[in-house]
Amino acid sequence: QAKSAGRNAHQFFDPAMQAAVESRTRLEGELRRAILRGEFLFHYQPQVDAEGRMLGVEALARWRHPERGLVAPGEFIGLAEETGLIVAIGQHLLRRACEQLKEWAGVPATRHLTLSLNVSARQFHHADFVDMVLANLNAAGVAPDRLVLEITESLLLDNIDETVARMEVLKASGIRFSIDDFGTGYSSLAYLKRLPLDELKIDRSFVKDIETDENDAAICAAFVSLGHILGLRVVAEGVETEEQRYFLARVHGCDMMQGYLFGAPVPAEGIAASVRAAD
Ligand code: C2E
Ligand code: MG
Ligand code: MG
Ligand code: MG
Repeated sequence: QAKSAGRNAHQFFDPAMQAAVESRTRLEGELRRAILRGEFLFHYQPQVDAEGRMLGVEALARWRHPERGLVAPGEFIGLAEETGLIVAIGQHLLRRACEQLKEWAGVPATRHLTLSLNVSARQFHHADFVDMVLANLNAAGVAPDRLVLEITESLLLDNIDETVARMEVLKASGIRFSIDDFGTGYSSLAYLKRLPLDELKIDRSFVKDIETDENDAAICAAFVSLGHILGLRVVAEGVETEEQRYFLARVHGCDMMQGYLFGAPVPAEGIAASVRAAD
């Protein structure tokens, strides 16, 4: 009796949902192991100015999974944020970023490069964040003005005064801030204007159809103007075609661009090689 009731109760579970829960649990376990083994690394994507000169790179996380090979951030950052594991992963990646900057600083062809690092809200609001960033730069002997922290509007969901205060401390050392995926979040301009930002990144979703969608074209133009009025450098992400480049940089004065047109994310050696080739 009890046994059959148990079996019936079991049937209330949707097998698809149960499979999803199991794969989530497995992924979380694998992430914990990956942190202990240091399986995270970066690929770097060029950021170029209107003349096509590479001024910096964005560091994009990858997970070297023992069986699955290189895993993209879309498959693990979300769960890492939900579970809080992003704090440990972020610390590991922060150290990698500073070590990379140190290596580039030692070579004339690459010493001008800045590195843009993505920071999750959860990481940013962690009690040790400011100290961690400064300590890692210091340990690597890297000038703080080589580092750009990319934050998103989701940061603003938490205490705005504390957010501004933290940013001010980091900015005082020379670190710069970029607002990533601009236009896709929920922030109001009233909040945004309070942040001590240096750069605005136009999200790829607005750039994608810029040639065919008048609204997207107008939005991109407006974002460039808005950024400039606020005194920010404007970067467009996901630039894939010559037409998009022309429209953004030549017609509307977008300062910097990033996208497959200029280069996909590659290991650090690929960046050094392309800087040497441009010399
Ligand atoms: P994001 O910061 O907006 O990064 C841009 C994403 O667009 C990257 O995807 C990049 O590979 C991709 N992309 C660049 N150019 C093009 C293009 O021309 N066309 C297309 N279709 N895509 C392009 P990726 O590397 O998969 O990263 C996805 C997201 O994961 C990032 O979006 C960022 O939000 C997050 N992420 C990446 N690395 C980190 C990290 O170290 N920490 C945290 N917290 N988040 C990270
Ligand atoms: Mg980014
Ligand atoms: Mg972005
Ligand atoms: Mg984006």
